[in-house]
Amino acid sequence: MALYIVAEECISCGDCEPVCPTASIYEQGPTYVIEKSTCTECEGDFDKPQCVAACPVDNCILPLAS
Ligand code: SF4
Ligand code: SF4
Repeated sequence: MALYIVAEECISCGDCEPVCPTASIYEQGPTYVIEKSTCTECEGDFDKPQCVAACPVDNCILPLAS
């Protein structure tokens, strides 16, 4: 279970990076990305994915199809 950042939507504001409890978000090229192997969708830490809550762009961070 993991989320991913839609590159076409990400404005590279960086707001999501510091709120991730698993340090799974980092800058890569022109946008930010989520490391899928460590993203927990915030389960066990928060009720909601913190990156989604922090992101100012709608539908920028979505569930990764497994
Ligand atoms: S859902 Fe949670 S664990 Fe996954 S990248 Fe977003 S803030 Fe980090
Ligand atoms: S908060 Fe949203 S727009 Fe900003 S860097 Fe993260 S994914 Fe991109």
